Amino acid sequence: VVDEPIHEAVLARSTTAHPDTVALVDAADTSGTSAITYGQLDVWHRRLAAALAASGQRKGDVLALHSPNSVLYPVVFYGATRAGAAVTTVHPLSTPEEFAKQLGDSSARWIVTVSPLLETARRAAELAGGIQEIFVCDRAEGHRSVVHDLLNTDAPEPAVAFDPAEDVAVLPYSSGTTGVPKGVMLTHRNIATNLAQLHPLVPMVPGDRILAVLPFFHIYGMTALMNAPLRCGATVVVLPRFDLDQFLGAIEKHRITGLYVAPPVILALAKHPAVAQYDLSCLEYVVSAAAPLDSRLAAACSARLKLPPVRQAYGMTELSPGTHTVPLATPDPPAGAVGKLLPSTEMRILRLDDPARDAGPGEEGEVAIRGPQVMKGYLGRPGATADMIDADGWVHTGDVGRVDEDGWLYVVDRVKELIKYKGFQVAPADLEALLLTHPAIADAAVIGVYDADGNEVPKAFVVRQAGAPALDADEVTAYVAERVAPYKKVRRVEFVEAVPRAASGKILRRELRQREKDRA
Ligand code: ATP
Ligand code: MG
Repeated sequence: VVDEPIHEAVLARSTTAHPDTVALVDAADTSGTSAITYGQLDVWHRRLAAALAASGQRKGDVLALHSPNSVLYPVVFYGATRAGAAVTTVHPLSTPEEFAKQLGDSSARWIVTVSPLLETARRAAELAGGIQEIFVCDRAEGHRSVVHDLLNTDAPEPAVAFDPAEDVAVLPYSSGTTGVPKGVMLTHRNIATNLAQLHPLVPMVPGDRILAVLPFFHIYGMTALMNAPLRCGATVVVLPRFDLDQFLGAIEKHRITGLYVAPPVILALAKHPAVAQYDLSCLEYVVSAAAPLDSRLAAACSARLKLPPVRQAYGMTELSPGTHTVPLATPDPPAGAVGKLLPSTEMRILRLDDPARDAGPGEEGEVAIRGPQVMKGYLGRPGATADMIDADGWVHTGDVGRVDEDGWLYVVDRVKELIKYKGFQVAPADLEALLLTHPAIADAAVIGVYDADGNEVPKAFVVRQAGAPALDADEVTAYVAERVAPYKKVRRVEFVEAVPRAASGKILRRELRQREKDRA
C-alpha cells in the first residue's frame, strides 16, 4: 500500500532525477515549442496549486477538468490535487446538459476548460449553479488564463495535510456503458497503490515514448498514458483526439515505443489499408484494455506490425483501474488472456446461478475482486455502492470470466449482456469477434432481441467493409451458422453505417437496445 498524495507518488522521483527530460510534447507541434520538461512540470504545477489556493480553493473542493488531452492537462491535474482538490475529469465532448449534470452531481466549485469549449462550460455552470470560477488553460477574451496565473503568481504554495487513505484525489465518472455514469471516489491511496502494483508487470523507463491517444479524462488514459509514464520519467506524446492518419503519423514521427489502446484501434491496426503507408518499426509493444479483444484480431494485429503478441489488461473505474495485466516480460502469453492478478489483490469467480458460491476450477462465473485499489465508493450513491462492494469488501464486477490452471484470467463479457437463448448463454462479444473475421465486415455489434415467440435471440448490427464484395443478411447468418453451435446462431441482421461506441472504445449495446425499443 502506498500512502502518498498522487502528485508526490507520480512526480517526486521523475522531477528530481531527470528535470531536463521532456515530460510531454504535443504530437501536432513541429517546432517543439509546446514541449515541457519534468523540471517545468514540477514548477508549473506547484505554481498552479498556489494560484488555485490564492483564488480560494480549499482542501476537499471539487475541480472539474474539461479539456481534450494537452501538455497542460497534467499541470492542471496535479496542481489541483496539490492544492487539495478532488479532480472530476469531464468528457470534452459533453453537451452543456451532460456537463451540468456532472457538475451538480459532484458539487464541483471550479472549472478548468480550454477556450474552444468555454461556451459549453459557461452554459453548464449556469445550468448547474454553485460554480465559483471558470479558468481557461489557454487565453480567451475576458477570462483569466491558468497559464498566465501559473507563470506569474508569487503566492505561497498551500500547505495541505493529506490523509491518503481517506482523501479523494480523483472523481472520474464510469463510462456509462450499462446505465448512467457514476462518480467514482478514488483516494490518493487507491491511485498511488495501483500504479505501484502495475509497474513491475508493465514497467516504463526514461527513453520510452508513449502516445497519449486515449483521453486522459477516462481512468485508462489517466493511468496508462499520464500517471504511469510520468511516474517513470518517460516522454508522453499528446494527441488531442483520435484520427487514424494523425495517430499513425505520430507513431512514426515521434518514434513511439509503446501503445496503450482499446480494441477498435487494434481493429484498425489489423485491417486498415492506411497502416501500410507508415513506418511503425519503432513500436516495441501494444497493450489493449477496456473491452473484450478477440484473440484472432490480436494475432492479426501483431503479425501485421511484426510485434510480440498484443498484451491485454483488465480493470474498471471502480478499481483504480487495474486488477490484471499480461506482463510485458511474458514472451508468449496464452491467446485471449487478459492477464495475471496484480500483487496484493484477491480474486474469486462466483457462480452465475448462485453468487454466494465459488465456481469450480476453470468454470465461468462473475469476477469478484478485493484489494487496496477498491474505490471508496460512488459519490452520493450508498445504495449503488452497497450493490457493488459487499460486506466483506469484494467488488462484484459484473463481468463473466474464468481462470485457467496457470492463473490466467479470460473475460467473456458482461453478466447483464449475455443473451439467454432457450436457456443457453450466448456471449455477444464472441459473435462480434467471429463476425469481424469475415473479410467484408468492417465492424459489428450483437445484442439480444425478442422474436415473435418471446425468445431472446442474437441480432447482429453489421458495418460493411468499403470496397469489399456485396454482402447480404443471409450470407452473414450463414457465415456464423457454419462456425458455431446452433444455439449461438445470429438470427437477425441489420446493416448500419457505424457501431455506437463510448470514448473508451466500448460498444454501446444499450443504445442499440434503445433503438430496437423505439422501433417496436
Ligand atoms: P458503466 O459502469 O458506467 O456502465 P463501464 O463499466 O463501461 O461503464 P469502465 O469502468 O470504463 O465503465 O469500464 C470497465 C469495464 O470495461 C469492465 O467492467 C469490463 O466490462 C470492461 N473491460 C475492461 N478491460 C477489459 C478487457 N481486457 N476485456 C474485456 N472487458 C474489459
Ligand atoms: Mg462498469
